[in-house]
Amino acid sequence: MNKKKKISILGSTGSIGTQALEVIEKLQDKFEIIALTAGNNVDLLNEQIAKFKPKYAFCNNPKEIQGAEYLPLDEICSNQENDIILVAVSGKIGLKPTLKAIENGIDIALANKETLVMAGDIVMKKAKLAGVNIVPVDSEHCAIHQCIKDISQVEKLIITASGGPFLHKSIDDIKKATVKEALAHPRWNMGRKITVDSATLMNKGLEIIEAHHLFNMPYDNIDVVVHPQSIVHSAIEYKDGSVIAQLGLPSMHIPIQYAITYPDRFKGIKSKSFSFADIARLDFEKPDYEKFPSVKLAYNAGKTGGSATVCLNAANEEAVFAFLNEQIRLFDIYSITNEMMNRHNIIANPTIDEIFEIDKEIRIKTREYIKLLS
Ligand code: MG
Repeated sequence: MNKKKKISILGSTGSIGTQALEVIEKLQDKFEIIALTAGNNVDLLNEQIAKFKPKYAFCNNPKEIQGAEYLPLDEICSNQENDIILVAVSGKIGLKPTLKAIENGIDIALANKETLVMAGDIVMKKAKLAGVNIVPVDSEHCAIHQCIKDISQVEKLIITASGGPFLHKSIDDIKKATVKEALAHPRWNMGRKITVDSATLMNKGLEIIEAHHLFNMPYDNIDVVVHPQSIVHSAIEYKDGSVIAQLGLPSMHIPIQYAITYPDRFKGIKSKSFSFADIARLDFEKPDYEKFPSVKLAYNAGKTGGSATVCLNAANEEAVFAFLNEQIRLFDIYSITNEMMNRHNIIANPTIDEIFEIDKEIRIKTREYIKLLS
């Protein structure tokens, strides 16, 4: 990479966005920032603009942007100056900008799971047609991306899960878990929604769906294994029985850097060398689906296909918000999502407009159902 890579970051004030800027700060001679976008955190956005000097910026209140030209999100994603766009927003708002960038032939570093959970078939098909690279930022998928040489020779994907804060707690403890306990993740520092998803293991469920689309792998060939140390970020098994795993210290800086510098590698933000002797031991165990039934729910939604994963994502997200607002208990997130899945009439091949329509409808129904419960 001789000339600077031109990048835009969607969601630059979030957890992934701010860490991406830390990576870019270390690799200043490698990157030029075209645009930064945020939602409502305009103070931090303006600090980032002053420091990183992007040409353009976007936020919900354009008048408050200082030091960069306001550009609508659509125009940022179709701007041909971009070599790559890091989609680091959380939730369904990631889908349309990602599609826009793909249609314009711009490579994607994808940190937004919902894009693939909601519309994986459409997104991957369009990316293939447009010759666009989608490099995953999610640590497990980034690991698998690094392990795969030839996908046609891979027998299965093995996704690791840290197990979250309730791994060895009893089912009764999980049922009465508080918001504070659910947000105390032992290994990863992430946003609130994904941290709750990690506590219920729904995050792993969403990652199974994400992996299915990214690597075109049947659900029966995607396994989950609990690995509390979060050193092995995921693995693949080849047809001949060889297993290739990607290891590293649990830091999101590494997968973010990989995704935005791919196919190159630089020293960048790495602070210390990896030491097997310091780590000393790696543990693995089967996931307990009695305690964490959300994983099975996600497998089923994925296998059903069509709008099932749209329903799963929308119902789960609304239930997580209700839990964070202390309206429901942690285990209710599963029960509510399961109930909404049972009620949902599957649409086989939804269009993008239908996906957004279904998403909206499920969210309204989920909120109504939660109201009845509380
Ligand atoms: Mg992950």
